[in-house]
Amino acid sequence: MGKENPLNSNTYENRGANLVRSHIAEIRGYVPGEQPTDPSVLKLNTNENPYPPSPAVAEAIARACQDLSLYPDPSASELRACAADLYGVDPDGVLVGNGSDEILSIILRATVGPDDSVAYPVPTYSYYDSLAALCGVGVQRVPFGDDYELPSGLAEVSARLIIVCNPNAPSGTVVPIADIEALAQSRTDTVVLVDEAYVDFADDSALRLVGRLPNVIVSRTLSKSYSLAGLRVGFAFTSAELAFELHKIRDSYNASRLLQAGALAALRDQESLRRHVGRVRATRDRLTAALRELDFQVSASHTNFVLARRPGESLAPVYDALRSRRILVRYFEQMPDAFRVTVGTDEQIDRFLEALREIWLNR
Ligand code: PMP
Repeated sequence: MGKENPLNSNTYENRGANLVRSHIAEIRGYVPGEQPTDPSVLKLNTNENPYPPSPAVAEAIARACQDLSLYPDPSASELRACAADLYGVDPDGVLVGNGSDEILSIILRATVGPDDSVAYPVPTYSYYDSLAALCGVGVQRVPFGDDYELPSGLAEVSARLIIVCNPNAPSGTVVPIADIEALAQSRTDTVVLVDEAYVDFADDSALRLVGRLPNVIVSRTLSKSYSLAGLRVGFAFTSAELAFELHKIRDSYNASRLLQAGALAALRDQESLRRHVGRVRATRDRLTAALRELDFQVSASHTNFVLARRPGESLAPVYDALRSRRILVRYFEQMPDAFRVTVGTDEQIDRFLEALREIWLNR
């Protein structure tokens, strides 16, 4: 369906291993969801927003193209001030990244050394595992219970960094902000990173902890709710003193002129955001109800995707059957009894549900 991702190919495996550090040669590297090139494929696998970004974004980027011979503002001052104003935080505590994946990388490299570890509840965003392996640091995975509450064991770990993905991927569930606050208060020497990639589809945020608890960082992205996965915009919001340290890690020009111009325009158009988030949430609720009607177990989602489960049963055949009908959802080998569906437009979800009903009821 698309171009082979070089990380999926074993053509070059081990050939350059002697030229790199041994822990790099040993890791597989994060493999993102498939990006098909065929436009007839219904892509419900990487949590992109089905609606277009604010039209002001393309206009701002076109204007910024006139100055491409010049380096961008290394401190992204205007964008940081705009984000600080919008989210009610100190501009000195704002960091801009090339996607929130870069923000995660900066934070991990800043906080966790070779003899230290990072901890997080699992299952969660698998890029954390890849990043930790890449940095050669230890990982403490603390399993969520069936209720997806914050595991109490997290307060006991000996990690330098604790990541709480909230809302969590791939479960779509949330933990109360009060529980994150209690964790951060009980661990003042540990950085607590709240990954809020999907928070605009939820009802509550940990932003109110930022600055008040100097060890809390909230990361955000414009990839999902603002429909800008292609622009690569991420933010970290934290105390000014912690941000000061994090700025040392990032490349001076990590936020390009196009990123800064497009992100500013997107943040200034809150009306587009609200409209599109509202539509996604409505379709998500309809999708959840339809999946439950087909006897899938679905936790209430606070994101733009839904996780469908049949505990103990492999859903690989369903994934394959959908794929052969040119419908891509996300299937995780570590979670064989589930698949994750991104919330598309109503028409896209109708096409998905029609195919799923046919496959499921005739299995
Ligand atoms: N955090 C979570 C939980 C995600 O699912 C993603 C997207 N896959 C990211 C962070 C990274 O998003 P981006 O780099 O596009 O900002």
